[in-house]
Amino acid sequence: MTKRVAVIGAGPSGLAQLRAFQSAARKGAEIPEVVCFEKQSNWGGLWNYTWRTGTDEHGEPVHGSMYRYLWTNGPKEGLEFADYSFEEHFGKQIASYPPRAVMFDYIEGRVLKAGVRDWIRFNSVIRWVEFDPQANDFTVTVHDMENDHVYRERFDHVIVASGHFSSPNVPEYPGFNQFYGRITHAHDFRDAREFSGQDVLVVGSSYSAEDIGSQVWKYGAKSVTSCYRSSPMGFKWPDNWEEKPALVRVEGKTVFFSDGSSKEIDSIILCTGYRHYFPFLPDDLRLKTANRLAAADLYKGVVYVNNPRMFYVGMQDQWFTFNMFDAQAWYVRDIILGRIEVPTDKQVLLDDVTERETREEADPDVKYAIKYQGDYVKELIAETDYPSFNVDGACDAFYEWKHHKAEDIMAFRNHPYRSVITGTMAPVHHTPWKDALDDSMEAYLKN
Ligand code: FAD
Ligand code: NAP
Ligand code: MG
Repeated sequence: MTKRVAVIGAGPSGLAQLRAFQSAARKGAEIPEVVCFEKQSNWGGLWNYTWRTGTDEHGEPVHGSMYRYLWTNGPKEGLEFADYSFEEHFGKQIASYPPRAVMFDYIEGRVLKAGVRDWIRFNSVIRWVEFDPQANDFTVTVHDMENDHVYRERFDHVIVASGHFSSPNVPEYPGFNQFYGRITHAHDFRDAREFSGQDVLVVGSSYSAEDIGSQVWKYGAKSVTSCYRSSPMGFKWPDNWEEKPALVRVEGKTVFFSDGSSKEIDSIILCTGYRHYFPFLPDDLRLKTANRLAAADLYKGVVYVNNPRMFYVGMQDQWFTFNMFDAQAWYVRDIILGRIEVPTDKQVLLDDVTERETREEADPDVKYAIKYQGDYVKELIAETDYPSFNVDGACDAFYEWKHHKAEDIMAFRNHPYRSVITGTMAPVHHTPWKDALDDSMEAYLKN
């Protein structure tokens, strides 16, 4: 009987998995039946924009955390698919920090070409997964929201690709209940224009704080205040942006910080990160990890050590994204196809995880972290037929990006980088990021 494989999620990670199997089939391999379950009505994961917050059209928690006017926060040269370049998709080289709509088009282009859309069951929420040790297979419970029908199917493998930047981490501070304004989490942030003319506080000091703060600044906030728990972002901010230490409490419109200072604020945006959240998994199958480069309990970053018939793709914190998901997806595919063997001794799997954790913790330097993840991508692609590419060159783009951000945080997106896939230099974008208010694909691609 043909093996059956369930893929949970049709975002970049799940789509990488479909493309990996399709690519093997095209080269003549016999592949299992692959069924991808996607709770949204379209593919693209976070890149599939929705205006909705809270619950979706089916009453399910909204997956989307992206917002209007989002441009990539790292150069596209760091994430380019090795088997499908930007030039192949757009018919020309394009500037280096595309807005979300451009990225969605690019992601979709590869899987349309691969012809895998009919492997996906849309509007299908995975409710539960269990493992049967006798039959050595999984039973997956699915809610088909279109027909309001719940059913169960059996699979030999389950690949979880449901993302980990959707379930918000929402801290509470004294006085929040009585704050005279709106308090929202980055997950529910959609349109920066809503905050125009306001004094805005962003809580957090990572990518969401930096980018959402920059968005509201760009679209006309009166002032931005950001506050950090551990360490400041430390960029050279514009005059109407101030960085403060930790938020302590709120009283009316006044927010108080740990250095004793205070400020009047209209709106608070919590950019306090996300949780790995798998409400559809029992204890024995559920990954529990922090958002880090060496995710817990994953051999080679993908094989679940407590049940090696189960895989997780894209669960690490991310410098590399699409090309890393590809490297992982090709690797998982080859395990399932019997081309790569997973050691049967659980201790060997655990030792692999420990080694990765120790190596990650050896140096807190950002450059070290980028190289660490680059080395991981190299490690996986060396073992499969995923087209090898100049990973060190992609790391170089990330180092330059860091440098450009330190130089001018509101102008780093004006820089072009060289593609490591086609070798072509990106053009300089026609409009500086801070003046480009229209984020449509048409506006971005016009010459
Ligand atoms: P997701 O994109 O989250 O996709 C997971 C999919 O699983 C979704 O379609 C979801 O609907 C589905 N799903 C979840 N649960 C279920 C269920 N129970 N049943 C069925 N389906 C389910 N990366 C970059 O490279 N560049 C960027 O500029 C960038 N910007 C970002 C901006 C924001 C605000 C955020 C939050 C992330 C950003 N990222 C960026 C990182 C992002 O994580 C990756 O680009 C990518 O989207 C991850 O892909 P994924 O498939 O692992 O997860
Ligand atoms: P994150 O990187 O996990 O950072 C979480 C932040 O919240 C940290 O600064 C953390 O501070 C802080 N925090 C957590 N709990 C807190 C608390 N109780 N009080 C105060 N601060 C708290 O999450 P993120 O910034 O949301 O980024 C998630 C992903 O989205 C990243 O992959 C990023 O690249 C992506 N992203 C991309 C874009 C873009 O492309 N334009 C925009 C936004 C986000 P500590 O350091 O103290 O822990
Ligand atoms: Mg290879």
